[in-house]
Amino acid sequence: MYWEPAVELAEADTLRALQTERLNTTLAAARRAPHYAQALRNAAPARLERPEDLGSIPFTTKDDLRSSFPYGFLAVDRRDTVRLHSSSGTTGNPTVVFHTAADLDRWTDLLARCMYMTGVRREDVFQNLMSYGLFTGGLGFHYGAERIGALTIPIGPGNSQRQLWFMRQFETSVLHILPNYALRLAGLIAESGIDCRRELRLRIAFLGAEPHTEQMRRLVEETLGLRAYNSYGLSEMCGPGVAFECTEQRGMHVWEDAFYPEIIDPETLEPAAEGEVGELVLTTLSREAMPLLRYRTRDLTRFLPGPCPCGRTHRRIDRITGRSDDMLIINGVNIFPMQIEQVLLRIPGLGANYLVVVRTEGHMDRLDISVEVAPSAFGGTLEELEALQRRVAEALRSEIVVTPTVHLVEAGSLPTTEGKAQRVRDERPRQGG
Ligand code: AMP
Ligand code: ZN
Repeated sequence: MYWEPAVELAEADTLRALQTERLNTTLAAARRAPHYAQALRNAAPARLERPEDLGSIPFTTKDDLRSSFPYGFLAVDRRDTVRLHSSSGTTGNPTVVFHTAADLDRWTDLLARCMYMTGVRREDVFQNLMSYGLFTGGLGFHYGAERIGALTIPIGPGNSQRQLWFMRQFETSVLHILPNYALRLAGLIAESGIDCRRELRLRIAFLGAEPHTEQMRRLVEETLGLRAYNSYGLSEMCGPGVAFECTEQRGMHVWEDAFYPEIIDPETLEPAAEGEVGELVLTTLSREAMPLLRYRTRDLTRFLPGPCPCGRTHRRIDRITGRSDDMLIINGVNIFPMQIEQVLLRIPGLGANYLVVVRTEGHMDRLDISVEVAPSAFGGTLEELEALQRRVAEALRSEIVVTPTVHLVEAGSLPTTEGKAQRVRDERPRQGG
């Protein structure tokens, strides 16, 4: 049942004592990083007596990470780091996250703990349909599955026929997949006339990296004939393995021996009232290369009350219902509207007004960007307009990784609003639930 029973079932007092000890170690380690040496100079107490004392320490934001690029948060000698991961996007400085060998070892153990909790064993065949590379989803699960001893297929996303071939050939039992892609794959399997329950050996799927509803989970479970578990994480903390569902499927256990969670009101920055939705704030408890204190994830959730029937004592958070900033997650890729704007502003011939619409089509996210063309550009030929359209699409693709459909429209034809422009319309039926 348990990968590390002593930790997973630790009594509340034991867990708090461990957290206090690790918070103090983390605080000391953080002071070795240039950013915190500066930020904590006058702010932090020398020693925390209990986890709640962390409240006197300033928050860390994504902007802090960017402005301290590349080494401002590094708390060890560069030569002691063995891996770098980075968020997508090239506008300004990306967030880069460093790991020592010990960091990777602990991260791997966290993933093994998560997967083992849902029933993955060495007999299993694990097909990892998440992207490998700078994105943490692929490699994180990969090493976790290998640590359990499951046969791991590092196939990555895409090429559904090939996915299906591997599933049949090697009797894949466990998937790690984006929720939207899971639904699309399920549709394709149904179209091919394959009976999932009879012809495939799928038992478990891990869905993560983007918000999805309870209804989506149920749909994936029914169509693929398996049990699907919600997986939450972010690169800044390590990647996946921060919070994970157990077989009860009622909220995700935050691994409190590795992260100290708080939920705050994003307006007042005070702790949210008991059980209220707020922004998740995380402090790393065992990271060497890049300890982070009170990191504002911007993800909205709440603590679920009461103990979990599975016996694990680590608190549970609810499904993520949205963000307290304007970040969009499109087919698993993180995009800030500002990145789109900066690309558009760089291209001559375009007007200042634009509209970004995000929709779901065939279970995948679609990005439609309408942008006004400056009146002068309308003197040109149709070919010139088409060339401009291609240029815009290509410039956007190289910035945000996702390929949008670009619509060039006449100047003055997009709605203008008084006050703050409404430039993003998210029409996806997926938040909350
Ligand atoms: P990245 O650092 O690129 O892995 O992106 C991390 C972000 O993805 C998080 O801050 C969340 O906004 C989002 N995310 C990851 N897992 C989930 C999940 N299970 N449900 C909702 N959003 C998620
Ligand atoms: Zn549980």
